[in-house]
Amino acid sequence: MSFLMVTRRDFLKYSAKLAAVLGFGASSIPRISEALITLSENPSVLWLQGQSCSGCSVSLLNTDDPGPAELLIRYISLQFHSTLSTATGETSIEIIHRTIDKGGYLLAVEGSIPSTMPEACLIGEEPLNELILKAVRSAKGIIAVGTCATFGGIPSAENNPTGAMGLSSFLKEKGITPPVIQIPGCPTHPDWIVGTLVHLLKFGMPELDTMGRPKLFFSKLIHDQCPRFPDYEREHFAKFFGDKGCFFKLGCVGTNTYADCTLRYWNSRINSCIPAGAPCIGCASDHFAKNSKFPFYRIGTDISTSSGH
Ligand code: SF4
Ligand code: SF4
Repeated sequence: MSFLMVTRRDFLKYSAKLAAVLGFGASSIPRISEALITLSENPSVLWLQGQSCSGCSVSLLNTDDPGPAELLIRYISLQFHSTLSTATGETSIEIIHRTIDKGGYLLAVEGSIPSTMPEACLIGEEPLNELILKAVRSAKGIIAVGTCATFGGIPSAENNPTGAMGLSSFLKEKGITPPVIQIPGCPTHPDWIVGTLVHLLKFGMPELDTMGRPKLFFSKLIHDQCPRFPDYEREHFAKFFGDKGCFFKLGCVGTNTYADCTLRYWNSRINSCIPAGAPCIGCASDHFAKNSKFPFYRIGTDISTSSGH
């Protein structure tokens, strides 16, 4: 089937999938259908990358319904993306500046901002730091994609020499405080990006928590939705990765990480960290990888003396 020739049946199928992505019930399907029609008007998206591994871009390409080609060609008009765009060199720089001058686009930022070492991240010959300050002023919506862009992530690990920080913190330092939708995750789940885009374009700003995260995806602790929570309550703890039981004593930080991974699952809903036999390492947490005291491992901790935080 060509994505340019979508039948009514396919259209309703996509709508149902998107309703599931957004956590709406079946009764919302007509609303999602309307959202898809709106998206067919191809809103402009400018995707800029700072200090990142591009993992969130790769994760976005794992979106299944709509698939990546449909998403990028049928529903949005991707002006520039350093990995996906065919334009290179001066042409790509021209496209970026033309898009910023025209305004009215959605700005997606992946990766952290090197606040004290601007030369660490150049787009053409211009520091990303300066380009970002121009781009946020003419964007109609701003999305920070992934834990690097939201909270600093791995590039902002203790003692990093670049002053890496998330987009919101960087803008705040510059005295600019536009609303930024924060979609953490290392990488972030494709549903969280696509769902946020759909919500933003059709229903307006999704409800955000105090950290700017859409409540649709980040309102509950992994721990509270965990299939191994009964094991935690019975103090039946796993002794090694892949073992049965709760992973708390092997360092699981689902106890203080807000995301819906254990309900949504990853890779087209095939599996997720904990059901696959590994602890949650808190990749969607604002603390992720920043502080050497962040407990990736907690082997031997006595649960009776630990709050889990
Ligand atoms: S500590 Fe981790 S594995 Fe155990 S119940 Fe909580 S989230 Fe699940
Ligand atoms: S379960 Fe935890 S570590 Fe795994 S993807 Fe979700 S937030 Fe990240």
